[in-house]
Amino acid sequence: MGAPPPTRAADRALARPRRRPLAALAALAALLAVGGTVAYDLDTPAPRPADAPADEFSAARAYRNVETIAARPHPAGSPANDQVRAHLEGVLRGLGLETTVQDTVAREAGQLSGAAAGSTLARVRNVVARLPGTDPTGKVFLVAHYDSVQSGPGGNDDAAGTSTILEVARALAAGPRPRNDVVFVLTDAEEACLCGASAFAADHPLAADGGVVLNLEARGSTGPVIMFETSRDNAKLVDVFGRAAPHPVGTSFAVEIYRALPNDTDFTAFLDRAGFVGLNSAYIDGGAVYHTPLDTPAAMDRASLQQHGDNALGLAREFGHADLKALDAGHDATYFPVPGGLARYPGWLVLPLAVAALLAVLALGWLARRRGRTTYGRLAAGFALGLAPIVVAPLGAQLLWAGVTAVRPGYAELLDPYRPTWYRLAVVALAAATLFTWYALTRRRVGPAALAIGGLGWLAVLGIVLAVLVPGGAYLTTLPALAGAAAGLTALAVRIDGPWPVLAATLAGAVAVVILLPTVVLLFPALGMAMGGVAALFAVLLGLAGLPVVDLLHPEAGGQRGLVAARARRAGALPAVAAGLAAAVFAGVGLAVDRFDAAHPVPTHLMYALDAGTGQARWLSHETDPQPWTGQFVGGAASVADFPGLGDTELRSGPAQAANLPAPKLEVLADTRSTEQRTVRVRVTPQRPVRLLTLHVDGATEVESAVVAGRAIPGGRATGTPWGFGIVFHAPPPEGIEVTLVLAGGSGPAALRAMDASDGLDGVPGFRPRPADVGVVGSHSSEMLAVARTYPL
Ligand SMILES: [Zn+2]
Repeated sequence: MGAPPPTRAADRALARPRRRPLAALAALAALLAVGGTVAYDLDTPAPRPADAPADEFSAARAYRNVETIAARPHPAGSPANDQVRAHLEGVLRGLGLETTVQDTVAREAGQLSGAAAGSTLARVRNVVARLPGTDPTGKVFLVAHYDSVQSGPGGNDDAAGTSTILEVARALAAGPRPRNDVVFVLTDAEEACLCGASAFAADHPLAADGGVVLNLEARGSTGPVIMFETSRDNAKLVDVFGRAAPHPVGTSFAVEIYRALPNDTDFTAFLDRAGFVGLNSAYIDGGAVYHTPLDTPAAMDRASLQQHGDNALGLAREFGHADLKALDAGHDATYFPVPGGLARYPGWLVLPLAVAALLAVLALGWLARRRGRTTYGRLAAGFALGLAPIVVAPLGAQLLWAGVTAVRPGYAELLDPYRPTWYRLAVVALAAATLFTWYALTRRRVGPAALAIGGLGWLAVLGIVLAVLVPGGAYLTTLPALAGAAAGLTALAVRIDGPWPVLAATLAGAVAVVILLPTVVLLFPALGMAMGGVAALFAVLLGLAGLPVVDLLHPEAGGQRGLVAARARRAGALPAVAAGLAAAVFAGVGLAVDRFDAAHPVPTHLMYALDAGTGQARWLSHETDPQPWTGQFVGGAASVADFPGLGDTELRSGPAQAANLPAPKLEVLADTRSTEQRTVRVRVTPQRPVRLLTLHVDGATEVESAVVAGRAIPGGRATGTPWGFGIVFHAPPPEGIEVTLVLAGGSGPAALRAMDASDGLDGVPGFRPRPADVGVVGSHSSEMLAVARTYPL
């Protein structure tokens, strides 16, 4: 006969300290201290004053340029854009740098996809300055875009990057000359089509041999600067980043997330070309102002600007004297922030580590059973039940946000709320409530050891899955699983009621905090509250990794009978109830604190479209569930197939009075036919100041090829739309653009649809200005005024 099965849950734990409250308190204090250190490490540096030493980066000095650049919206082609460019040239020439303007027409990389074939182009004017190196092995490019969206002045996006580069150029020019050439590239028309960067990378003589690109961006107004994207085989670049950036915040997981998101920056245009490698950095918190009129210089957190500058200057100096021919590592690195620096290891270690973590957890399960702390049945139950919080917490977070958005529908159009902190806390509290509820329900029956090992099992399994699918993210679960398994094996090797099991569990918890807490913190701004479930997932994984510490804190609830048991059950529910209440209170405070007002207006989207041929005009909106203000103009969804230049198929629509505005003029300059082809040469000229011009060919006509403002572009044909092949041209010159279309023979009479668009709806008949608490959505089409006309050929 063996020993009778243990009845007290504590006997089925990995640790059973003699003075449990004290041990619990000590472990909690240690983990809170580690968490505080992690948060402090992610904090931005103090902005340096204008009288900082000349070889340092000063946010105060850089901010003066922010104010000049972002005085008003300055999209490509606008008079304000000309003024900004003149200022940039003046500053760079004033530093004694060879400064030129690359003035050309560029085509967006890749073709328009879907039903409408065609191309997007822009007239761009890049400001390029060079600091020649003493003995160059290659070139370092510091890149930022100086254009803004039409709907806001771009105080952060990307006056932050542009001003950072001006201040870095000043600091470099003031110090000893670097070995390598440093080229400052301030691109145009990033917001339109990344066309400035495409033009530089493809055509500029300084770009011919490639080099190292450091792209600087801002998608928000505050928060740490994150190095979120790299070129392939990044190990050596990441190593330089870890050594030379004074505040290196970056994770190989971000690279993987970013690849899955529909975002692009100028960096993409460089990576599309052979010979370029590099790093892409941005700060991304405070996303509510992104692309809106609120993205002003005053909205900028100058601590984020300081971090951008410190890192860019450190990297420019390091790459400035490195041998740039020796940067290809042949493999990617795993890297993540740890207090005091950037941890990194080669990508080929990812899978072996994941396998080791899984084997360690299996060994832990085997030994725990041998030591009588659990059974195989309980281990299986612990693993199966471990899936519950992993699934429930993210779903709960999504439901929570659906509830908040139902109360405040205006959130639907925002990247993130204006004041997201309370909502983020609510999601974390909800994840904790889920974990505690699950633990209170399962602890007595399954036992703490089996639940802890089951939780580590999930972390280890996820580590294998990530290692195969998303290698840069595998460290997130592999390393906590490995640390947890090592701690568990240590605990089983010593006396259960001694101090060592508690110490081991606390150390493993600290590893989980260091690795997973920054992920939770950075995922919130990266994905926004609408995807808060992802942050909840990692919060719950953090909880699972720290389950032995959770167990120390958890009220005893096992073994007793009757009244005592009932009281114990109530005590066991206490953490779950407290966390659940906290989640509700945080969400409520969020709703109370983050109201829409004049400084935090509810975002609305409105456009105006006029057919100058028929005299028909319409209000249009992108809002799926229109705000009351927008509802004055638009009703149900309607087809906008007659405005192919808008790039949408359906929008909210409402009737409007016709404005007295001219459509772009189309003149046929030449029209020649053979049996196989018809070649038409036209000039399209805007009759008013516009930001973009579009030209579409009817869907029945096949375009074999085309030349737009001297650039050859591939042809194409529509599939099932009235207007097919199209050209979108940003920042057209006032004299218009010449387009040559080679049409396939046998096509019948053709038609062209020309559209142009300006910005701003003031003065449009029937437009009523917004009240103070109603704002403009950050979008490339907000407040757009489009005029179109069909021309038979
Ligand atoms: Zn932007």
